[in-house]
Amino acid sequence: MDYIVLDMEWNQPWPGSPSARKVLPVQIRGEIIQIGAVRITEDRHVADEFQVLIKPKYYRRLNRRVSKLTGIKESRLREEGVSMEEAMAAFRAWCGEDVIFLTWGFDDITILRENLMLYGLDDSWVSRWYNAQMIFNAQTDGSSAQKSLKTAMEMFEIEATRPAHDALGDAYHTALICARLDLRRGAMEYEEAVKSHVNGFHGAELPGCICRKVFYDYADKRAALGAMSGEENQCPTCGRQMLGSRWFAQPGHRYMDLATCPEHGKFLIRVRLSDQPDGKVRVSRLTYEATSEAAQAYARRVEKAEPEAPRSGTRRRRRSRLPKKEE
Ligand SMILES: [Zn+2]
Repeated sequence: MDYIVLDMEWNQPWPGSPSARKVLPVQIRGEIIQIGAVRITEDRHVADEFQVLIKPKYYRRLNRRVSKLTGIKESRLREEGVSMEEAMAAFRAWCGEDVIFLTWGFDDITILRENLMLYGLDDSWVSRWYNAQMIFNAQTDGSSAQKSLKTAMEMFEIEATRPAHDALGDAYHTALICARLDLRRGAMEYEEAVKSHVNGFHGAELPGCICRKVFYDYADKRAALGAMSGEENQCPTCGRQMLGSRWFAQPGHRYMDLATCPEHGKFLIRVRLSDQPDGKVRVSRLTYEATSEAAQAYARRVEKAEPEAPRSGTRRRRRSRLPKKEE
């Protein structure tokens, strides 16, 4: 049995572009353009490497942010990229039969599965995987926050010898970290580690936070946010359903909204969405006093956004709002 450390780069349509309006048979968060992978043997030796570039089929124009971050040019994908089918066949053959995937973060496997489904390809062979961040945390400082690869490398005093934001470069550095972890124990204690991540506070909580709750198993982002402004939008004092105003997107799959209880007044709601291993969506929800610093930050945000806000009769779409699932 080998561990395969996997890292990928993916392309996303530019917001508002024709590609962004495409309705695909399977919804994907991004179309994979590069796969990098490094094998770690059972006795924790960093072994051979795999890399492939994939010519995008659905989002053909390379998002300039993706291009800038990864250093991959559209012309290079055209020249060196192979089809998804070809890339997956080669990758699967390289992996071998008995493998466990390790990724830095929860995103890569989800996106790999989405892409396999979009192409109608078998995804059963990627069902065994662990987010190495969780194992790293459990075996180092015990914290529940997701650390960047760079931070983890610094903690282990690993020098960067490969380029960052290159799939193989990131996979290689991740492999150096993973080779120093007790992966067997990490796998055994994984459930516990994920639970502590889910229940942990991520980053410093702002003062004025009065209540925190975790919700599970939403089909997608829209369903999750719908529940958060609907039936789960309960007043922390009386438990009655509050009235939301609107969600503002913040970095890191976070959203905030100011909700009102007819009797107890306003509360700031902050939610963070994350993917469960089964592809469903989990929500961490924080409720703040309306007088808190966080609520004041929301008020400033609303004020700034107001001139652009849709007026009655108009149907302007705002980029800060949740993108529609299908359009
Ligand atoms: Zn109330």
